[in-house]
Amino acid sequence: MIEKVVIANRGEIALRIQRACRALGIRTVALHSEADRDAKYVKLADESVCIGPPQARDSYLNIPAVISAAEVTDAVAIHPGYGFLSENADFAERVEQSGFIFIGPRAETIRLMGDKISAIRAMKKAGVPCVPGSDGPLPADDDENLRLAMEIGYPVLIKATGGGGGKGMRVVHSEAALRNAISLTRAEAKAAFNNDVVYMEKYLETPRHVEFQVLADEHGNAIHLGERDCSMQRRHQKVVEESPAPGISDRVRQRMGERCADACRKIGYRGAGTFEFLYENGEFYFIEMNTRVQVEHPVTEMVTGVDIVREQILIASGERLSYRQKDIVWQGHAIECRINAEDPRTFMPSPGRITQFHQPGGPGIRVDSHVYNNYMVPPYYDSMIGKLIAYGPDRAIAMARMRIALSEMVIDGIRTNISLHQDIMNDAAFRAGGVNIHYLEKKLGL
Ligand code: ADP
Repeated sequence: MIEKVVIANRGEIALRIQRACRALGIRTVALHSEADRDAKYVKLADESVCIGPPQARDSYLNIPAVISAAEVTDAVAIHPGYGFLSENADFAERVEQSGFIFIGPRAETIRLMGDKISAIRAMKKAGVPCVPGSDGPLPADDDENLRLAMEIGYPVLIKATGGGGGKGMRVVHSEAALRNAISLTRAEAKAAFNNDVVYMEKYLETPRHVEFQVLADEHGNAIHLGERDCSMQRRHQKVVEESPAPGISDRVRQRMGERCADACRKIGYRGAGTFEFLYENGEFYFIEMNTRVQVEHPVTEMVTGVDIVREQILIASGERLSYRQKDIVWQGHAIECRINAEDPRTFMPSPGRITQFHQPGGPGIRVDSHVYNNYMVPPYYDSMIGKLIAYGPDRAIAMARMRIALSEMVIDGIRTNISLHQDIMNDAAFRAGGVNIHYLEKKLGL
């Protein structure tokens, strides 16, 4: 068993990982930048190490500083959380070369999934349904690309294989625009990701975002924990997530979940992971795999009772999964609202001091947040300051509990998107369930 874990992250996920470690009797080392020095979760950790100035590139993204902190504290393992270094294959490799356990997949798996073309090829081979497309890099020959687009059918999407965060993509509606779109996407991808390889995919016009959570151990066991619907998005950023996804039957959940678990076995996956799909007209199309814990993991925890972060740590310790597939029983419904320090209309970040913080409660309410009265939200990082999760025996009750919790929650001194969440919870289409990924932006008039 791992005795001491370095938590190479900040904010709510650093606290979430700390809680999982403490429940397992594992000592924790909180790494922090100068801006996060006074955060309560840093003080709650058994040890803490300042790894640099506020800017993430000088601290949370500073690989030598993270590894030295693990060395000076005699830690055994490093948990990367999400964002920052969590999907950096070079980091995972350096961690293991330095003699520490990386709480996540093998570096080669992260690398395979980090390149979109190689990820799609691996998934296709493993029997996961993918978006119809070029099946590889686009050639330099324009005529061939025109033929390909014709075959796939417009609109098509030109995507950078090294892309991420919704960047490096361009929709093409007609033959006339194709050549230009390919060269623009190539140039952008070269500048942003230093990789000008692009590929082509059918552009799905009104899909939902439905993703499957998996867990796999080193001994060849893999299970799925069902799906989440994360279609409520703005600029490719998820705003609200829920599990189960409205309208997905038990039979479809089992069939798709089993395909994902089977793909894990085939590629020798290790750890927690998520298969992201676009879902349109009853069909699933794989878009990417996230090789880390996700922000929205709590909704799955609420409906399955599985502690995903605990499982990540046990898997990294070399243990077998604590569950077999038949042990996983889905019960009730859970919804998560991401609470951001931002203006609810302009979406401009709103860092600053929280003068009053009151957390909601009651049956089925879970708050994953590191903030408190008088907490200073630093301006250097993502604006998410916590997650409000509501569970209920069915979707209507979960939604009613969420509405009450949102009305109880008080965060003064900064602006937050609580009112946006209240609008969403009262929205007729959201209440009916199953809106597509463009719904929120249309509603907001964007
Ligand atoms: P990233 O790594 O940048 O997040 P993804 O491949 O996950 O890239 O795509 C980001 C978003 O772009 C998706 O969530 C979806 O909204 C949209 N998207 C990606 N592929 C397609 C497609 N083939 N058709 C329609 N929308 C797509």
